[in-house]
Amino acid sequence: MANALPHVLVTGSTRGIGAAILDSLQGRARVVGHGRADATDIIGADLSDPSAAASLWAAALDRLDGRIDVLINNAGVFEPVAIDATLEDWQAGWGRTMQINLQASADLCRAAILHWRERARTGRGGGGRIVNIASRAAYRGDSPAHWHYAASKAGMVGMTKSIARGYAAEEILAFAVCPGFTMTGMAEDYLASRGGDKLLADIPLGRVADPAEVAGAAAWLALEAPASMTGAVLDINGASFVR
Ligand code: NAD
Repeated sequence: MANALPHVLVTGSTRGIGAAILDSLQGRARVVGHGRADATDIIGADLSDPSAAASLWAAALDRLDGRIDVLINNAGVFEPVAIDATLEDWQAGWGRTMQINLQASADLCRAAILHWRERARTGRGGGGRIVNIASRAAYRGDSPAHWHYAASKAGMVGMTKSIARGYAAEEILAFAVCPGFTMTGMAEDYLASRGGDKLLADIPLGRVADPAEVAGAAAWLALEAPASMTGAVLDINGASFVR
């Protein structure tokens, strides 16, 4: 019965890891995807706009008959800002990355928690799950042109843990995934720009992650992980950074 399936919103699902998450959830959930612009089965919302997360949440609720059980915050950008950029450009770069990677995710988490509280209050069954796609950079840091990216992902991890601790008693669970290099469009550009082989030498597994590996972990957290795992952060990096 379609209605028995969990209802899931996945952000940034038009390609890369997000598209692989959609594939992983196929047949196991009723899923709404999201991208920068409207497309078939995709809700368009440019998350660099501070009002976009709220309208995305409302549109997703509408498509899912008023109920969302799982939020997967995957949309993100990895854009460089040089230290010798003008202060104006530097701050604009930081602001854009923080808005898309962290603030929009926070706005969606807030909307989800308020939604689950309202459902609990009105006897429709509360509780839900959040899966935040952060990055190895949250713990290891990133290149000199990507302080802001690392900071946005570290913020995501701190947010995830705060949500896990703050709302577990309401059956609201939160998890994070920290991928290392993952062979999507974004990583291909990065690998090419850094000389792929040298970078691979830093990964004991000898290869970057496949999007399906990250997606499988995210889907498992979204649908199956035991509640006692709430607050956990899963590393998927071929042992390139072992905590
Ligand atoms: P990608 O560039 O292939 O896809 C990014 C997705 O986010 C796309 O669907 C895009 O539409 C969406 N997006 C980007 N900017 C947006 C905006 N302004 N408004 C709305 N949507 C926007 O990226 P990916 O490699 O699949 O990465 C997915 C997530 O995984 C990101 O959060 C990224 O930081 C994280 N991550 C990726 C890697 C990697 O090596 N690929 C490593 C660690 C973490």
